Amino acid sequence: MAERNEADREFAPETMAVLAGRESNQGALAPILWATTAFAYDSVEQGRGLATAAAPERFYSRYGNPTINAFEATIAELEGAEASRAFSSGMGAMSAVVLGLCSTGDHIVAQRQIYAGTQLLLQTVCPRFGIDVTFVDGTQPGAFAEAIRPGKTMLVVAETPANPYLDLVDLDELGALAGPMTVVDSTFATPLGQQPIAHGVDLVLHSATKAIAGHNDASIGVVSGSQELMTWLWSFAVLHGANASPADALNAHRGVRTLGVRLARQSETAQRLAEFLEGHDAVSRVAYPGLESHLQHDLAQRQMSFMGGLLTFDLLGGREAGEKFVESTRLAILASTLGGPETLVTHPASTTHVGLTEEEQAATGIGPGTIRVSCGLEDAGDVVADFQGALSAAG
Ligand SMILES: *Cc1c(COP(=O)(O)O)cnc(C)c1O
Repeated sequence: MAERNEADREFAPETMAVLAGRESNQGALAPILWATTAFAYDSVEQGRGLATAAAPERFYSRYGNPTINAFEATIAELEGAEASRAFSSGMGAMSAVVLGLCSTGDHIVAQRQIYAGTQLLLQTVCPRFGIDVTFVDGTQPGAFAEAIRPGKTMLVVAETPANPYLDLVDLDELGALAGPMTVVDSTFATPLGQQPIAHGVDLVLHSATKAIAGHNDASIGVVSGSQELMTWLWSFAVLHGANASPADALNAHRGVRTLGVRLARQSETAQRLAEFLEGHDAVSRVAYPGLESHLQHDLAQRQMSFMGGLLTFDLLGGREAGEKFVESTRLAILASTLGGPETLVTHPASTTHVGLTEEEQAATGIGPGTIRVSCGLEDAGDVVADFQGALSAAG
């Protein structure tokens, strides 16, 4: 768990993404892989010091590891946070936050529009530990504040932009909440797309598996916040055991260096694709924060510096058209992740959400013709042409 370097704050975030996390790199341009689970110490005295320190870098890799620490320092720098901790996945990070900060008898307020794994954690695991959860519509002003039970609510969990319709939460409103700690899942925005901590939010979380690592080759999560809160979280995290692997931290750190250009490219392609889809006869609805038709477009412009590579749209032709569409793309690939080099499409109604009835799907915001898109790094014209072709094929 490394601290940020104040002296480097004068550069733009995209520059910091290239520069950050080099302090202990001994001049090597690329991050160094410390593929070791443990480090030798010189004496009993030194061993005692390491075993009782918070987040020692060279003791045992579940506690800390130089490769992981360099990645954590980079993310802390970009988030404007005092410290970060990496986990084995985004869910490893979320479960550590929820179970590390809440106890039996506590209450959590969470957003209804949220990643399915987070929803299931809150809905099925929390009750087993006597933690009560209230779900609210995160797009409604005052919804979080109204659900807070003074003295009881320990944590507020939000995600913005959120699954599945790119709904936004007002970060100023979240940061102003008095009482509970606040955590924002900022995965869709990335650390370069918005800065929740600058809005007063306590913790910001990413599935770095997605755009941060950016190449579909690392499973890793990361949480950032104040030194005090992160030290507390660290003391739970070493027992929780969902620590990141040094190899994944290496890939994620390498990914950060190119995040600026990738996010800019993916945002540009998503904007162009969203505008194209909005004008197409076979499409009933397009959700993208960069569109003027997005209900929270003004909020997006206020709090986001990139609109991101994710968009969702609905086909008028329903389930049949949805299935036909995702099987008709020649370039876009059918796969359930996001933020990588390849443009991906999914038809949730027939894949990730197939176990639900149509009514249950509708309750989670998934329509029969809903298509989720993660724009990649291909030529934008090729992507639009591919969608045009698949829309014709889907009738
Ligand atoms: C993927 C994802 C997660 C979970 O991350 P994993 O690395 O798959 O555990 C959490 N939140 C959001 C928004 C995600 O997209």
